[in-house]
Formats: sequence, structure tokens, C-alpha cells
Amino acid sequence: MTLTTYRRKRDFKETPEPKGKAKTKASRKGPLYVIQKHAASRLHYDFRLELDGVLKSWAVPKGPSLDPGEKRLAVEVEDHPLEYGSFEGTIPKGQYGGGSVLLWDRGTWTPLVDPHEGLRRGKLEFELHGKKLSGNWALIRMGGRGDEKGKKNWLLIKERDPGAKKGRR
Ligand code: MN
Repeated sequence: MTLTTYRRKRDFKETPEPKGKAKTKASRKGPLYVIQKHAASRLHYDFRLELDGVLKSWAVPKGPSLDPGEKRLAVEVEDHPLEYGSFEGTIPKGQYGGGSVLLWDRGTWTPLVDPHEGLRRGKLEFELHGKKLSGNWALIRMGGRGDEKGKKNWLLIKERDPGAKKGRR
């Protein structure tokens, strides 16, 4: 887990985004879960889960759906610093990800499988405890269970539970 890629992509003299500390304490109530609505050149929702002192991150173009039948593409992106989980603001035009960032949902998450194993094998099941999203969810990597680099496309899926709603975004 490293923030090298995150920092390489950004000019911190220009963007108000956090640079991130070398070490950040784990949050107290449980690992952080956050979704940011990011109006970059293309609107998307950044889905982030705290693990090992960073935020594992996926860009979800259509945002999450409460309908278990609506699998949403989630493109794995670089780890973000934990402080990013409270960032809202405008990234200047011309900078990486230029556009506005709004906190869309925030809370904690509970892995339902070993999270390192889940990320490696491409099947991460977890529970969300947010204001908008809760209950059981899964991230499934497309293209099989291999863990070779370059497989960046995952699906974000609501699992069937009382919080699931057919036909709801
Ligand atoms: Mn983004």
C-alpha cells in the first residue's frame, strides 16, 4: 500500500487535495467507508474503503445501485490517503481530476471475508454502515480470479438482503 501513484498524479501547489501523511492512525469506530461524487470531465462516484492506513479506491461511473440485478462497473484506481475521506472542494481545471468533489456518503465498513485475500482473489464481500448505503455489498473483479496486474475492472453489487430494492439506483 503506497501513495506514490496518488502523489505522482497531483501537483499539491495547485490542488487543494490532501497530500497524505506517511502514517495515519486507523479511525476509531471502524475502518472508513466513503463515496465522493466527482464532477470531473466525466461525472463518477469514487468508492473508497479504508485498509492498511490508506483508502482503496474505485471509480464507479454510474454510482451504486440498491438493485442486486444492477451490477455497476467499478474501475480500480490508485490508493488515496485516509485524509481524502473528508475532502470536499474543487480541483482546479487542468489538474488531475479537475472538477468538484462532494461527499455523497460516509460511514464505516466491515469486511465479511479476509480483505487482503478478497482483493487478491477478486471477490470482496463486506457490510456498509453509511447514511445512504448499508447492508451487504460485494466487489467482484471481472475476468476471473487471477490476481495479475492490469485487471482493473470490478463490479459493485448490492447483495440480496432486506435493504435491496429492485429497480432502484
Ligand atoms: Mn474521481
